[in-house]
Amino acid sequence: MKYNPKTIEKKWQKHWYDSDCFEAKDFGEKPKYYALVEFPYPSGTGMHVGHIRAYTSLEVVSRKRRMEGYNVLFPIGFDAFGLPTENYAMQEKIHPRKVTDQNIEIFTDQLKRAGFSFDFSRMVDTTDKDYYKWTQWIFVQLFKNNLAYRHKTTVNFCPDCKVVLSNEESQGGKCDRCGESVVQKEKDVWFLKITEYAERLLKGLEELETLPRIKTEQKNWIGKSIGAEIRFGIADSNESLNVFTTRPDTLFGSTFMVIAPEHPLLEKESDKIENAKALKEYQKRAAQKTEFERTELQKDKSGLKLEGIEALHPLTGEKMPVFVADYVMMDYGTGAIMAVPGHDERDYEFAKTHGLSIVEVIEGGDIEKEAFTDVETGTLVNSDFLNGLDVQDAIDAMIDHLVKHDLGKKAVNYKMKDWAFNRQRYWGEPIPIVHCEDCGMVAVDEEDLPVTLPDIEDFAPNEEGESPLANIESFVHTTCPKCGRNAKRETDTMPQWAGSSWYFLRYIDPNNDKELANYHKLKYWLNVDWYNGGMEHVTRHVIYSRFWHQFLYDIGVVPTKEPYKKRTAQ
Ligand SMILES: [Zn+2]
Ligand SMILES: [Zn+2]
Repeated sequence: MKYNPKTIEKKWQKHWYDSDCFEAKDFGEKPKYYALVEFPYPSGTGMHVGHIRAYTSLEVVSRKRRMEGYNVLFPIGFDAFGLPTENYAMQEKIHPRKVTDQNIEIFTDQLKRAGFSFDFSRMVDTTDKDYYKWTQWIFVQLFKNNLAYRHKTTVNFCPDCKVVLSNEESQGGKCDRCGESVVQKEKDVWFLKITEYAERLLKGLEELETLPRIKTEQKNWIGKSIGAEIRFGIADSNESLNVFTTRPDTLFGSTFMVIAPEHPLLEKESDKIENAKALKEYQKRAAQKTEFERTELQKDKSGLKLEGIEALHPLTGEKMPVFVADYVMMDYGTGAIMAVPGHDERDYEFAKTHGLSIVEVIEGGDIEKEAFTDVETGTLVNSDFLNGLDVQDAIDAMIDHLVKHDLGKKAVNYKMKDWAFNRQRYWGEPIPIVHCEDCGMVAVDEEDLPVTLPDIEDFAPNEEGESPLANIESFVHTTCPKCGRNAKRETDTMPQWAGSSWYFLRYIDPNNDKELANYHKLKYWLNVDWYNGGMEHVTRHVIYSRFWHQFLYDIGVVPTKEPYKKRTAQ
């Protein structure tokens, strides 16, 4: 008989899906096995070959485990909030809800035609209000535990699309979508305090079974460095500049300082600054650049010397010139750096350009010619009480000295910043917060969740770059959950990473309307035994979801400290 895929495959697929043979059994007698793949974004074009590739390896593992006698949970769902759907909806004048439903139907059909052995009875959709109710619930818990806060920051804004863009979406200062020049806009935005979990996110990696490369990527992303925070005084002033450095041993080689154009010192000491006009110009230019341009693109690390302000070297008391340069970012470390031109290429070039002194403090190079940067080891010179010590001992000795003389302290710094948790668009989870004139920011009562998206026709953000929800009076006006007076709803929505930060928990109990998932079911199925996904998600998504999971563990919602036992990348 000739193999006819149209009839034979259909016949058996129908048999599989009708007989529920891929359904996982809660509390089954057999040993459990939880295999997880990254759920797709249901785009209008349907599945592509990349999806098939991404799901096939664990498809094979799941089928093998079933044959080996395991009770296998191999679920699928849809990560369906986000811009592509919203933009398509705006273009075609169809509601994003409708677009999403259509796309999910297409995807589900295609997944079944490919013969995947997913448990379709546990399908989740992050845009379903019964799902995002719990995404909002988690946000409320984060808020109540002081892990969600608002903070003024500058954001990349496209005046044409009227949308706040990430650094990745605004490279070269142009909007990714329309090519318009991006401007910098000051805005109050939501953050999640992921930095509070930095240490635990690092520690949890020890138990994760994974390729060394995956661990390294996460470690680098978190970017822990140990060093010292050192205080530099300002001449004829009570102000000071704090600097974080991993190399306090090179302090005697520091000959000038560089601060970010947004540094608060500039405001505090403004009446002393003699070249205020030039400074204003410089700040204005810097404000138009994106972070990416300031830190990555810019080859020429120029800066503006502050006239009228000098720093004091904490050990020698010598006066040091202070420069303002836009490659120093206020959000990283302290927004100020001590320059050590003898041992840093950028500082060396800078010192040469501005005729500043260059001091060798670690022996071995020729600083007449170039910076000597091979300083992981080495011996200290020109450094008073550190002379003759090797680098490691010198670091310890310097920290001791700083602490003893109240000039600084031992400090840890992380490259990872708090998670900017907001979008000013319609198609996302509404942030469940109410702004009350008397009570401030108040979380929506848990029994009033979900805060659902109003059914509207116009999804365009307004001129201020506020979410379209801000234009909906009936959505905005509400009462304060605390005092009952008139109040306004938050109109920002959550970023796309929200729903995917806990979806693997919902698969375990997808229809629960009392809690995000039953604790005993979680206890039965967790941890995820094997999670396979894209290398590009190893940092953000995997770290974000580990953070939420660790937090949910802390408040007693999940029984395990970490979500995943093993993570691989296809
Ligand atoms: Zn644009
Ligand atoms: Zn109130």
